[in-house]
Amino acid sequence: LGRRINAAVSDLTRSSNLDEKAFDGMIKEICSALLEADVNVRLVGVLRKSIKSSVNFKELAPNVNKKRLIQKAVFDELVKLVDPHPHTKPFNPKKGKPSVIMMVGLQGAGKTTTCTKLARHYQSRGFKACLVCADTFRAGAFDQLKQNATKAKIPYYGSLTQTDPAVVAKEGVEKFKKEKFEIIIVDTSGRHRQEDALFQEMVDIQTAVKPDQTIMVLDASIGQQAEAQSKAFYDTAAFGAIIITKTDGHASGGGAISAVAATGTPIVFIGTGEHILDLERFAPEKFVQKLLGMGDIQGLVEHVQSLKLDQKDTMKHIAEGVFTVRDLRDQLSNIMKMGPLSKMAGMIPGMSGMMQGMDDEEGSIKLKRMIYMCDSMTAKELDSDGKIFTEQPTRMTRIAGGSGTSVREVEDLLTQHKMMAGMAKKMGGNMKNIQRAQGAM
Ligand code: GDP
Ligand code: MG
Repeated sequence: LGRRINAAVSDLTRSSNLDEKAFDGMIKEICSALLEADVNVRLVGVLRKSIKSSVNFKELAPNVNKKRLIQKAVFDELVKLVDPHPHTKPFNPKKGKPSVIMMVGLQGAGKTTTCTKLARHYQSRGFKACLVCADTFRAGAFDQLKQNATKAKIPYYGSLTQTDPAVVAKEGVEKFKKEKFEIIIVDTSGRHRQEDALFQEMVDIQTAVKPDQTIMVLDASIGQQAEAQSKAFYDTAAFGAIIITKTDGHASGGGAISAVAATGTPIVFIGTGEHILDLERFAPEKFVQKLLGMGDIQGLVEHVQSLKLDQKDTMKHIAEGVFTVRDLRDQLSNIMKMGPLSKMAGMIPGMSGMMQGMDDEEGSIKLKRMIYMCDSMTAKELDSDGKIFTEQPTRMTRIAGGSGTSVREVEDLLTQHKMMAGMAKKMGGNMKNIQRAQGAM
């Protein structure tokens, strides 16, 4: 999706006559990309209008960066859609007072998994949290909850003999209220489809336990059904919040936008995996970034920024088409700092090949040896383009001796550097071209 939207915007900015017709064509392309990502048809219509009215094409000053402006308009409109500023107050449990949370959703949506995640979330914030299994429909449901809860050391309640879910729910909630629990989460059953029996059950349980908050759990891969489904649940159970699960999967998450828009209910958390810690507070901007395909980049940028890496000079150098041996040394130590080597090295151009076929331990030994070699160099050698070594090969022998490595390894290091310097030269050239092109716009 992100690629298509960015491509559409690029097409527009590249086309020589940047007229309103080209702008309309671009909006059309963006809208069809959004439809493909399962954003609801009607919503896309609304979005189209708001983008058009927020970017008044005729009145744009000739020197503004149109691409940036349009991208920002698309981004802002999508954020508005997932962040509806609901009239309902956000759920805010208080310590020393019981709060009952009830989960609803179809079978397989992730209710039982999310219950445990949520209980742990509150537990780690100092609340006394517990779980009640009111799923008497699916065989094995109580066992599943029991296992999850036991692993996470969360008290639970359920019954293998009672078949009325409302009765079990009431018993559990009353028991835990007496025991002064502060967060009591009631797991309910689902069905493969929306059906009357499920909706009747939801109402019965709600009447029995009077939840302070009902949360609908929605699978991120729900797609175009999201609107109808969340509406049907909302009409019966009037939930006050949504949790989207399986956002770690391939689904583009457009359905989530539709669910929020259809019910005016906020997404409070997202599930990002099967593990109990895989629960994140929902952040509209981050979610839209991911929808637009900017997620990974943003994550990497944040990660890199948080590490205070020696990046500035290298970036400046690359922009100029220069890459010194010292730049290579800084990059190597950056990779060491970033951790899971295999993942990080793959993100840095020119580094993935070097680490190929090595596990994290072997890779990190190799990196360390490369850094030792660099650290045996003089300042003059480090700030050079590396040719100094081919001109005076005895320098390599000295470095191998000083760093406890071999001449062969020093040669490999310099070959690696040469390759990266070549890439920097190309990239630097490209950047200049881009800057020149932008200046001409
Ligand atoms: P329920 O029927 O609504 O109670 O759904 P479950 O909690 O039993 O979950 C159904 C399946 O989805 C299980 O295999 C879970 O491990 C999986 N699941 C739940 N949440 C997530 C998530 O955020 N990411 C991934 N990858 N799997 C999830
Ligand atoms: Mg379940």
